[in-house]
Amino acid sequence: MRIIAVFSSFLIILLSSSSHFGQTIICDFCKKSIETGQYLQVDQKYFHSEHFICEKCKKQIKGSYYPKDGKYYHENCYKSTFLKKCSHCKKPIEGEYFVINNKTYHQNCYDNYIADKCAHCNKIIKGEHFEDYWGNKYHYEHYGTVPMCEYCQKLISFKLTGGSTIYDDGRVICKHCKSSAVSNLNKAQRLLEDVMFSLSLQNILIKEKEIELHLVDLKQLRIVSKNGSKHSNLRGYATYHYTKENDVIVKKEFDIYILSGMPSSYYKMVAAHELMHIWQYQNSDENISKILSEGSCEYASYLLLRKINNSNSKYLIWQLEENKDAVYGEGFRRVKKFVEKNGKTAWLNLLKNEKDFPQGY
Ligand SMILES: [Zn+2]
Ligand SMILES: [Zn+2]
Ligand SMILES: [Zn+2]
Ligand SMILES: [Zn+2]
Ligand SMILES: [Zn+2]
Ligand SMILES: [Zn+2]
Repeated sequence: MRIIAVFSSFLIILLSSSSHFGQTIICDFCKKSIETGQYLQVDQKYFHSEHFICEKCKKQIKGSYYPKDGKYYHENCYKSTFLKKCSHCKKPIEGEYFVINNKTYHQNCYDNYIADKCAHCNKIIKGEHFEDYWGNKYHYEHYGTVPMCEYCQKLISFKLTGGSTIYDDGRVICKHCKSSAVSNLNKAQRLLEDVMFSLSLQNILIKEKEIELHLVDLKQLRIVSKNGSKHSNLRGYATYHYTKENDVIVKKEFDIYILSGMPSSYYKMVAAHELMHIWQYQNSDENISKILSEGSCEYASYLLLRKINNSNSKYLIWQLEENKDAVYGEGFRRVKKFVEKNGKTAWLNLLKNEKDFPQGY
């Protein structure tokens, strides 16, 4: 709410005692008669000029005064006593002020320091806006018109994300996410081994000998996963290849395909998911239900992210938990519920021995 503060001042007019036609006049302050020298008349009261005293500081008022409820004040004493103070700069407010949440601000202080600013265009946000996971607020009008980072979901701007890069397959990644992007196979291999080690500490042991890692772009990933649709969550794929002789499997090989150029925490999350698929190829019935299978892979990502425990991993856990997908999101929540009640060993045994969730999950 915008309000204008009003106040007033009066100038002291000095009179001379000779002008008073012989009447006895009494100083309102000292109650003695005023006989010689200069005096003042204010609101039908008279004062020796040195007895016209500020109610606040008790010093003589010269020049102009501010009246209030029959008392008189210096300008600064009046303002510091009676004017509202700005909740930001703590100074008295003259002229326009702004009230919000029971706090009062200079209009300028409000605009410059308190008002929500759009994280994209830096202009003041009035009314409706949207907010990302990180607490950045944006004008609605940018939503859908300004590109968003595929990985942190911040709207791209130089100030907020340092700009962006667009990959050949169309993915938009902000500069901050790009700084940890995994685009080289050596780094990818090393991180995959880290993830495998971290899962082994959770008793998810994967025989690693025949796993081959491929870093691919989105087009290649769609081809190998035979997923032609624009499935936005397509980030990795795991498959196997068994060599048979006389109907007997003599060699098992596994391939993991992961999108190149993802930030490292994101890459690790996907790697844990795909490694859990490999674990299932090595341990589970091939007809295991999709929801138990994918939910368990998402849960493996969750176990890994919990160990990383930084702001990015918390964000990714939030994504797993909030995922509305009927297989991935729902499967994750059901596995989480199962583990919370029965423990991790029971979950891994479930994957080894059953094809679906037991009753109640
Ligand atoms: Zn007096
Ligand atoms: Zn004063
Ligand atoms: Zn202020
Ligand atoms: Zn804006
Ligand atoms: Zn980003
Ligand atoms: Zn999967």
